[in-house]
Amino acid sequence: MSDDCIFCKIANHVIESDYVYEDDLVCAFRDMSPAAPTHVLVVPRAHHETLVDDVPAETLAALVHAVGEVARREGISESGFRVITNAGPDADQVVRHLHLHVLGGRSLGSSLLAE
Ligand code: AMP
Repeated sequence: MSDDCIFCKIANHVIESDYVYEDDLVCAFRDMSPAAPTHVLVVPRAHHETLVDDVPAETLAALVHAVGEVARREGISESGFRVITNAGPDADQVVRHLHLHVLGGRSLGSSLLAE
């Protein structure tokens, strides 16, 4: 865990959040500035900056599994949803702890971007 990382603190309950799903390796909580009716962030409990930061395969599998759990729990597995991860400056990554945005609950349009 990184002491100055907000998502480390949330993922390890140093700071509490509105959790949607948790297991040993990952947790999912609501984005504080939702861009859609469902906007949940899925993060590993261990600190990894991006997807290319030597993330163990077990953790990657747990992240993808958690996306499915979030979609089912939020009732968007049939209506549809989008998963995005921002990595690095060109993607405008703000929080430097790997996170998957799970967006749904409205039509997200055909663009790859969530806007
Ligand atoms: P990005 O790093 O650009 O992929 O996006 C970071 C996301 O984290 C944004 O959608 C923020 O609204 C969200 N965010 C930042 N701090 C918190 C927090 N403390 N709790 C929940 N969501 C957060």
